[in-house]
Amino acid sequence: MKIHNFSAGPCILPQEVFKEASESLIDFDNLGLSVVEISHRSKSFVAVMDEAVALTKELLHVPDTHEVIFLQGGASMQFIMVAFNLLTESGKAQYLDTGAWSSKAYKEAAGLGKAEVLASSKDANYNYIPKGYTIDESADYFHCTSNNTIYGTQIKDFPDTRVPVVADMSSDIFSRSIDVKDFDLIYAGAQKNLGPAGATLVIVRKNALGRSGRYIPTMLDYTTHISKGSMFNTPPVFSVYVSMLTLRWLKANGGVETIAKRNDEKASLLYQEIDRNSLFAGTAAIEDRSTMNACFLLNDEGSHKEYFDKLINTNQISGINGHRSVGGYRASMYNAMDIESVQVLVNCMQELEKKYS
Ligand SMILES: *Cc1c(COP(=O)(O)O)cnc(C)c1O
Repeated sequence: MKIHNFSAGPCILPQEVFKEASESLIDFDNLGLSVVEISHRSKSFVAVMDEAVALTKELLHVPDTHEVIFLQGGASMQFIMVAFNLLTESGKAQYLDTGAWSSKAYKEAAGLGKAEVLASSKDANYNYIPKGYTIDESADYFHCTSNNTIYGTQIKDFPDTRVPVVADMSSDIFSRSIDVKDFDLIYAGAQKNLGPAGATLVIVRKNALGRSGRYIPTMLDYTTHISKGSMFNTPPVFSVYVSMLTLRWLKANGGVETIAKRNDEKASLLYQEIDRNSLFAGTAAIEDRSTMNACFLLNDEGSHKEYFDKLINTNQISGINGHRSVGGYRASMYNAMDIESVQVLVNCMQELEKKYS
């Protein structure tokens, strides 16, 4: 029976990708060797890296002003790399605090230089995206988290500013159209919409680099990795390979514009049920609801949780518990999830309602 995987991350990837990746673990590119036992400088692997970069550029319409690189260390390493590369000795960075990931990013910048929290939704356990703030024109950069995986909120309109914008897009990259030219730097850990944990995608405006005036440790300097085509040291070969396969899958399925429509349909299906069904309530402000992670609660956990959890289990729904800081449930509906899986969850919610009405 099919498992409906709503896990927040690591999370669902296309079954076709798993199948091809598993074959390549034994015999890659008809070499008689595994993809993880060949040199990363071999022709076969260099072709993988080149294709991963080319597909990223194609699917996100990355302009020539920007470079695409694959790094290690996860999104969490980017928290400090961004600051080393973009924060000047005398300047400051401004951060939008929309949750745990944003505040970790802020902490790293504040440890290195001057950083400010421009606006925060911490007062309401991050259940909305702050608006109406004014970015200081003199800031080196403005940092935001496009999708708050834990709280189920998502920035729908990025600020219109002349200040360089940096965005952590770990949990919604490739899920919707973005205008890359509006960002000086975008980063994303692979393990939400792209591939297995290990690789981190960075898209950076070339002329934003080389201006911080700081000594940047070699491994933390974007120019190191750009100049070596993401091969300064051994890249996370399996993660890059599977990410490339996922991007091929995305292209074959109509690209970002098409997947965005499907993601909207999946999210509407679930949010409509959350709003309609009197046993449930959504936790995020309606206008800021994420299409990737839907957070919701049972209004009466004491009476209904046991039976709802039973329904979830018997219907092979997996990974749907909310993050411990929010509680309740979190349904993550990344690109690879079919709308049929969301329908199975909605059916469980309706069955619960029938039993108790
Ligand atoms: C998962 C996640 C992270 C952490 O990523 P790592 O690769 O584990 O460091 C950071 N930001 C967001 C928005 C995330 O969803």
